Amino acid sequence: MLAQFREFCQSLSSRLIFFVGLTLLISFSTWAYYNIRYQKQKEIKDISVWTDRLSETIQLGMQYAMMQNSRDDITHSIRNIAKLKPIEHIRIYNKEGVIKFSNLQNEINQKTNIRAEACYICHKTTPPMTDLKLSERVRIIDSAREGHRQLGVITPIRNEPGCSTDSCHIHPPDKKVLGALDVVVSLKESDDEATFFEDAVIAFSSFVFVVTSTIIFFFILRFVRQPIQKLIEGTRKITDGDYQTQMDIAPGNELGQLVASFQKMGKEIGLKQAELNTQRDRYQQLFEQVPCQITVQDRDYRLVQYNREFCERFHPETGDYCYRAYKGRDGKCENCPVEKTFEDGFSHYSEETAINRDGSRNHWLVRTSPIRDGGGNIVAAMEMSVDITRSKELEAKLAASEKKYYAIFNNIPNPVFVLDAATLEILDCNESVKSVYGYTRDEIVSNAFLDLFNEDEREYYAFKLQTASVLHHVRHITRRRAALLVNIRISASEYPGRKVLLITTSDETKRLEQEQQIIQASKMATLGEMATGVAHELNQPLSVIKTASNFFMKKVKRHEPIPDEILLTLSTEIDNHVDRATKIITHMRQFGRKAENTSEKIQVNDILKSAFEIFSQQLKVRGIDVLWKLDEDIPCIMADANRLEQVVINLLLNARDAIDEKYQDRRQLKNMGRITLKTSADTKNVGIVISDTGIGIPPDKLDKIFEPFFTTKKVGKGTGLGLSITYSIVKEYQGDIRAVNNDDGGATFIITFPLAPEDTP
Ligand code: ADP
Repeated sequence: MLAQFREFCQSLSSRLIFFVGLTLLISFSTWAYYNIRYQKQKEIKDISVWTDRLSETIQLGMQYAMMQNSRDDITHSIRNIAKLKPIEHIRIYNKEGVIKFSNLQNEINQKTNIRAEACYICHKTTPPMTDLKLSERVRIIDSAREGHRQLGVITPIRNEPGCSTDSCHIHPPDKKVLGALDVVVSLKESDDEATFFEDAVIAFSSFVFVVTSTIIFFFILRFVRQPIQKLIEGTRKITDGDYQTQMDIAPGNELGQLVASFQKMGKEIGLKQAELNTQRDRYQQLFEQVPCQITVQDRDYRLVQYNREFCERFHPETGDYCYRAYKGRDGKCENCPVEKTFEDGFSHYSEETAINRDGSRNHWLVRTSPIRDGGGNIVAAMEMSVDITRSKELEAKLAASEKKYYAIFNNIPNPVFVLDAATLEILDCNESVKSVYGYTRDEIVSNAFLDLFNEDEREYYAFKLQTASVLHHVRHITRRRAALLVNIRISASEYPGRKVLLITTSDETKRLEQEQQIIQASKMATLGEMATGVAHELNQPLSVIKTASNFFMKKVKRHEPIPDEILLTLSTEIDNHVDRATKIITHMRQFGRKAENTSEKIQVNDILKSAFEIFSQQLKVRGIDVLWKLDEDIPCIMADANRLEQVVINLLLNARDAIDEKYQDRRQLKNMGRITLKTSADTKNVGIVISDTGIGIPPDKLDKIFEPFFTTKKVGKGTGLGLSITYSIVKEYQGDIRAVNNDDGGATFIITFPLAPEDTP
């Protein structure tokens, strides 16, 4: 009950009632006060004026009697007039303050103190004032003796001309005032009236105040308090989530409109709230389902909130601390990003490592951000952790693999360069570059790869590096300006963000030297093999020369003349055979010399013929036929004549041996041993076919015969190098060689070379 009353006292309605009532009370009181005061003043003023007029009337009425100095008339008049209500006293004072006339007999001739109330009005100054306004001449006497108030008006009695000039009792003319008339009237009646009026006004005011207050009270109660109560109830329901609540207030007035607005607002809030709820649910879902751990922490690192992922991963206890849940620590971590966020209000990153209960390690990428209240103060910090253990492991693996790659890259015995595909600038290289070229990595990186080439060849190789995949026998220059013969392998690749060329160079200088030596050794072996045939070849001219010289010696000893004709014939014969022997020896010497690693435009027919020339005797003594099928208009190829001759001789040697082996009974050779030499060409290639009627190649050995040191020949006869050298020479000139068995026995070797470019001189 008391609480309700207190609530009512605090309510807007009660305050409104109180203040309206107070305002009314003050208004009515003020109105009553001024009204009563005005009435009282007016009454006093009216009585004053009336008394003043009465005084003047008395003066006028008694003027004649005074002139006559008829004291009885004056006394009689005063007494009669004083009987009139509400007159109580009429006194006439002389100048000295002696009451000369009065309606009260006992006062006559009493001297009044000049300082007394009635006299003091004029005598407060010296000389006394003569011209005073009525209000100054009026005095109110609170007569205790009479029991009511009185009003006195004192009026000076002036020295009229009649008084100063008349013969009866002359007053000097300079005397302005002769005395004073004091008329005192009772205020009892007027005070009673005023009291009655005052009571009436107070009663009326109280009545109006009470009635007005009551009306306002009930009005406020009915039209303000009740609707507001309903409005409060309605808004409470809206606050509690009942956005569709109906407030039973009649529309129309301002409160009705306010209620309608509240209801509309409630509905809109309801809609917005529903939307907010949807969004909140969505964010909550995101918060819960986001594949990382999210926590909200207070300044003590206590977990205020966390998502499902965190809960499932760390199983925190209620009120747990971040450091305990994450790492099982008893205090905060060093360099705590949450602490920093609380300090400076910014986001912070860090990488954390935690040891799990099973002893395994987990790495986390942590990011924090502040959560502020409406005033901008940081009240909490949000920490988001992403498990980067897997990527850390991959990073470590990548680093290890990068290290391994670098180790491999650097330990590749051949120099490897990484070039920018567009500019051919060296982006990277391995350590073999130092041992082969003499440049350290720092010296050569960022330089142009073309700087390693001869100046006049740079333009050509700039194009070749962009288009070819292999470049043979390229001349490079080392740091010490030494020449280097290299093969270059080029492959296009991608570095992060740019296209590159991976270049591998192999120093061919030593290999070529060794190859030359092997080829040379093989040549020497071939020459050795051919020695018998060559000796047989040389034997013929020598025997001709011997026969001719014996003939000449015999003729000279016998002193027989030699006819000029015979001398000429024999000399010519000797000359021809010496030429032939010289040619054979020159050819053998040429074949035996170390071939240059060059290439020039040559005709394969010439090579076949030349090879056959030094080999023909070998075949002739074995009775092996040679069948020529040459295309006489054959186009040129690019190769070295000496090297190509070695190829043909190797193949002829093998053909000879194969026929030898097949036809060991020499008598059969007459008809069966045959080597066919054929050349042909199409638009791209020139072909050389050397076919024999020998033992052929076992099918399972067809893919092995070009391998070095493969031989089926007897120890001391075959080295197994012939076809391998043949193969490498053919490949050197971009050619191809293959072997097949003939259908009717024997083997065929088919060699193809690309045509020489037409613009080659
Ligand atoms: P070598 O002649 O020293 O054995 P090659 O490399 O020249 O070495 O030959 C390798 C092998 O290839 C020979 O041992 C032989 O078995 C086989 N061969 C080569 N040419 C012929 C041929 N025309 N007919 C049959 N076999 C051949």
